[in-house]
Amino acid sequence: MSSSQVLNDLEYLSSDSLKGRKTGTPENRIAASFIADRFKKLGLRSFTPGYIHPFTLKNKSNVEIQGANVVGYVPGKKKDILVISAHFDHVGVINGLIYNGADDNASGTSCLLSLAASFANTKPNYTLLFVAFDAEEMGLQGSKAFVANPPVPLETIKADLNMDMISHNDKGELYVSGTFKTPALKPFLPNGYGLLKLLPGHDDPKLGADDWTNQSDQGSFNRKGIPFLYFGVEDHKDYHKETDEFKNINKPFFLDAVEVIRQTVKNLDEKF
Ligand SMILES: [Zn+2]
Repeated sequence: MSSSQVLNDLEYLSSDSLKGRKTGTPENRIAASFIADRFKKLGLRSFTPGYIHPFTLKNKSNVEIQGANVVGYVPGKKKDILVISAHFDHVGVINGLIYNGADDNASGTSCLLSLAASFANTKPNYTLLFVAFDAEEMGLQGSKAFVANPPVPLETIKADLNMDMISHNDKGELYVSGTFKTPALKPFLPNGYGLLKLLPGHDDPKLGADDWTNQSDQGSFNRKGIPFLYFGVEDHKDYHKETDEFKNINKPFFLDAVEVIRQTVKNLDEKF
């Protein structure tokens, strides 16, 4: 997997043509198909026709709409599972402005595709489930639907590694949450990669709003008692603004983030 592929994927997913990937829009479906097509090209296995796991939810106006998670997997030597996840939806078009969601969360989604490519032709110890969640922006709806109606027994899921906003930080700091609850995961975390520092934190309930445990899809796993690692940056000036665009991400930082997460998955698969 070349660094240009993962950047090209991020650029495409956050391009104006996908209009901010809002759940329930045709462009959100195009993004889901793009992910499913990649899973197919890589030879990932599927639980359903075309990797798509549909679910229904209500939008803000209380209208029932369709969402769809995209799920592919690489069978491991054992049945125990590591879920690797990122949400692909964003908030769409607001007042005529396209909210491209480059960092949130084209970054995590393109990293997910890069990790899927790395492990597609391997025989991992764990069965690796690659999950692109829909409707995170509407209240973690995709991951809630996933744990409510999982394609595998929940008790076989040993951890969720979730990525949400991993491409935009001026200080070279990527946070990883989850080891406050599950200290046993700490030995598998690298200190960093390249110029990037990987900092455990944002997971102590005493932090209040700065405890990120339930602020993205890892929260749905946490509520089921499943350990998690969540990778993300602190909020930045472009967070949930129309300026969260490809040109404003930190490309070298993002590429380092992809590598530090790839290394974490390898460490967990080999030794956890
Ligand atoms: Zn997000």
